Amino acid sequence: MSRTGFRLRQMLEAGACTRCRLCAEVCPAASAAASGGLAPLTRLRGVETLLLRDRRLLSRLLRRRPPDPQTLERFAEDAFRCTLCGRCETVCPLGIRLKELWAALRGELVRRKRFPAKIEAIRRHLEESRNVFGEDNAERAEWVEEMRRPPDHGFRKERAEVVYFTGCVAAYFPLAQKIPVAFAEILEAAGADFTLLGEEEWCCGFPMLGAGLMEMFAAFREHNLAAVEGRGAKRAVFACPSCYRMWREHYGAAVELLSAPELLLSLLRAGRIPLKELPLAVTYHDPCDLGRGAGVYEAPRELLRAIPGLRLVELAHHGEDCLCCGGGGNLEMVDPELAARIAAAKIEEVLATGARAVVTACQQCVRVMTGHVRRNRVPLEVLDIVQLLRRALAEPKRPPD
Ligand code: SF4
Ligand code: SF4
Repeated sequence: MSRTGFRLRQMLEAGACTRCRLCAEVCPAASAAASGGLAPLTRLRGVETLLLRDRRLLSRLLRRRPPDPQTLERFAEDAFRCTLCGRCETVCPLGIRLKELWAALRGELVRRKRFPAKIEAIRRHLEESRNVFGEDNAERAEWVEEMRRPPDHGFRKERAEVVYFTGCVAAYFPLAQKIPVAFAEILEAAGADFTLLGEEEWCCGFPMLGAGLMEMFAAFREHNLAAVEGRGAKRAVFACPSCYRMWREHYGAAVELLSAPELLLSLLRAGRIPLKELPLAVTYHDPCDLGRGAGVYEAPRELLRAIPGLRLVELAHHGEDCLCCGGGGNLEMVDPELAARIAAAKIEEVLATGARAVVTACQQCVRVMTGHVRRNRVPLEVLDIVQLLRRALAEPKRPPD
């Protein structure tokens, strides 16, 4: 890392951009805001200019003037008006790692103390409560009480084969809590030996990446790794794609890491999840961090195809080309209006499929799309894939005593 916060490779990548505009054409934030200021290539130009500010000689050589304070202010705000969906990166002919660049840019702006006020609240919540919402961390596993038959051990075992890392959104939002409830009920019915970390679970670090606060991450990483390893687990599973992505890319864990659809598919193939008929037309929304971020496209679709009577209709943009729901990159906290406009475009595309329900595999996508559907009274069901699978589960079995 150089003293700017950007790696040398990233500075070279920013300078290599040919301004072909392909990234601008696919950016959901730029099209929802109808503002070229949010387009990825405009931001790249800003990165270059930002670097010039510190390098008078370079700016003289390139005959470019460093930015004035107002331009810098506007640029700093726009840098946080991005969902970090990564769609821009998939079309860049030069293979510029744009998502990494956006995260480095946010870190650099925080270092220069130019960031939206909400970022300070995220930092305070994480420092004081170990979760992104500033909630009591001791209440992380309270959703267990919402299960049909909460077990006496409350899934707080000293040792288990699998650790289910719940994530902040699923732990604290009542709407999202339905997802861990459904997931735990399926795992229990399948006889899986799993545990939660409860209050020992700290934020995975993803909000730090989005907020440019990665200097806080090391302590959270060490803590979570020790908590998982302390359970003697062979696997950790994540129903939140952002937690999954953080663990895959930033933890260096010795245990096997799986997304919820991958674990459920292996249990289904082993004949441990019996399914009943569920006549329903659904479409599937690929969460950015699970699809483009982790390449998990087939496991959720295979689960959907395994449900008798269910019909899967693909979205116009799906798989690697899927449109973000608006919920990523802390955008909701920084510019909720723009996040809502991105969600509106998403729901419009969903309705065009004629499906009765949109299924996804991310609690944040469920929250954002449900918010839009409820506010606008759209006749559409929004479900996480574990909720749908729970509904299709035939005769849940009690775990062996
Ligand atoms: S990550 Fe997504 S929202 Fe951000 S610039 Fe790229 S395409 Fe636009
Ligand atoms: S797609 Fe790549 S090369 Fe083209 S404008 Fe965007 S960042 Fe630059």
